[in-house]
Amino acid sequence: MYELVRVGVALSGAFLAMLWLALVLWVYRDAQSRSTSFPVILLSTVLVSSTFVVGWAVYILLRPRFSLSEEYHQGFRERAALLDASSGELCFRCQARLQLDYRLCPNCGLEVKHPCDMCKRPIRPTWNLCPYCGHSAHQPLAPHPNHARASEEQRKA
Ligand SMILES: [Zn+2]
Ligand SMILES: [Zn+2]
Repeated sequence: MYELVRVGVALSGAFLAMLWLALVLWVYRDAQSRSTSFPVILLSTVLVSSTFVVGWAVYILLRPRFSLSEEYHQGFRERAALLDASSGELCFRCQARLQLDYRLCPNCGLEVKHPCDMCKRPIRPTWNLCPYCGHSAHQPLAPHPNHARASEEQRKA
């Protein structure tokens, strides 16, 4: 009978030791993916290795919310959205967002820019000269009724 109890205790002890080791290793690797600061990683690992499941629960509550790579991608997406909003222009006709070098509106096909006679870079029909090379003799397109209104609104704004 005593033999049986001893085996049971030894087995559960081994099980707990394995669980402890797994938790400590998991926290160590998780902390590494979330922080580059060595004291933070060390502290998290020591916390879990000394207080076991309690320390693990505390770590889960306090750990940085995003891992480093998630944070990186989040920041990238925000910067890309910001860049898009700041560099974009709107189509005169349908208000679709245009990139600076678009010649035609991808939505309605309106020609929003035409190539400069000299340097062939895209120029707005409302500009008096090419801002890239200074060429001013380009033939302006027949002004679209909306173009005049749009440029007037731009001047007011
Ligand atoms: Zn359009
Ligand atoms: Zn030009």
